[in-house]
Amino acid sequence: MSAPNKSYDPVEVEALKPEEIERMRDEALAAFAAADSLDALHEAKVAHTGPASPLALANREIGALPPHAKADAGKRVGQARGAVNKGLAARQAELEAERDARVLVEEAVDVTLPYDRVPAGARHPLTTMMERVADVFVAMGYEVAEGPEAEAEWFNFDALNFLPDHPARQMQDTFFVQGPKGTEESGSGVVLRTHTSPVQARALLDRELPVYIVCPGRVFRTDELDATHTPVFHQIELLAIDEGLTMADLKGTLDHMVQSLFGADMKTRLRPNYFPFTEPSAEMDMLCYVCKGESIGNPDRPCRTCSSEGWIELGGCGMVNPRVLTACGVDPEKYSGFAFGFGIERMLMFRHNVEDMRDMVEGDVRFTRPFGMEI
Ligand SMILES: [Zn+2]
Repeated sequence: MSAPNKSYDPVEVEALKPEEIERMRDEALAAFAAADSLDALHEAKVAHTGPASPLALANREIGALPPHAKADAGKRVGQARGAVNKGLAARQAELEAERDARVLVEEAVDVTLPYDRVPAGARHPLTTMMERVADVFVAMGYEVAEGPEAEAEWFNFDALNFLPDHPARQMQDTFFVQGPKGTEESGSGVVLRTHTSPVQARALLDRELPVYIVCPGRVFRTDELDATHTPVFHQIELLAIDEGLTMADLKGTLDHMVQSLFGADMKTRLRPNYFPFTEPSAEMDMLCYVCKGESIGNPDRPCRTCSSEGWIELGGCGMVNPRVLTACGVDPEKYSGFAFGFGIERMLMFRHNVEDMRDMVEGDVRFTRPFGMEI
């Protein structure tokens, strides 16, 4: 006699027969190999390794075996499941690699393809800078005034108190427009304006007093184009003529301008200078907007923007010379006023660390693009 469990041979249990286990393993591996996508592989995975898969069911049978048979059957099933899992992981890796390669090809962007549209143009940073400055004054009630670029010598020099022997009138500084054939080269009386100041004289002749104008514009001097000079550049000039205007009004206006452009804690200082069309005249500096003057005498905090001087020279200014007022038909006993002007290129250079003026005139969009494409 024998207890049924003692004679229970795993080989007799259909699901645990070695060839049956091998068949289940091979079927699973074949199903994985046949899966041609990650989704198909997932289905095969559920069918061959899930709780209802043949190998999982066979595994359950082991529990019913007598102890001496369990180890053998368990080892056989375990090895088959191990092989199946390994096969699954390998196929999974294969299919994922295929998918990744396909995505790389399908979603690739050909950066060498030409633009599909022409990029929008934009205004030059000199123009936007000039308008930004003019806007500060327009907000204070000033009017924008313009004048011709080919200007009468009288407006450019005489009306502004440049005496006939003033060096600025020399050919090496000023472009004289040639007169008709057979006349003296400078006899036409027309120059390319060397500053925006003639607009002041024109405005005083044209307008009713009081006059508050801001004049942005292009000016010309016979400089060679290099890193710090250009024969064509831009100025913005201001003129205020009213009763009772003083240097204090000028100073307050300058402070307001630099505060509007560079921040509320900015200020200006004036240093005595000479210009024919203002008296007294001053060189105008603004506090360095980067170090706010803290680099002065402070080797630990050097400042590139102002060369550690704390101040940046901006332009010239002063009270309008009474001779200029008289030349323009304004009574200097009743009216007074102030004027100042500065170069836009220079402001663009220190405000944006532009080191070479040639970049501004060459029209290369690689220079203008970082300033933003304002339209
Ligand atoms: Zn500084």
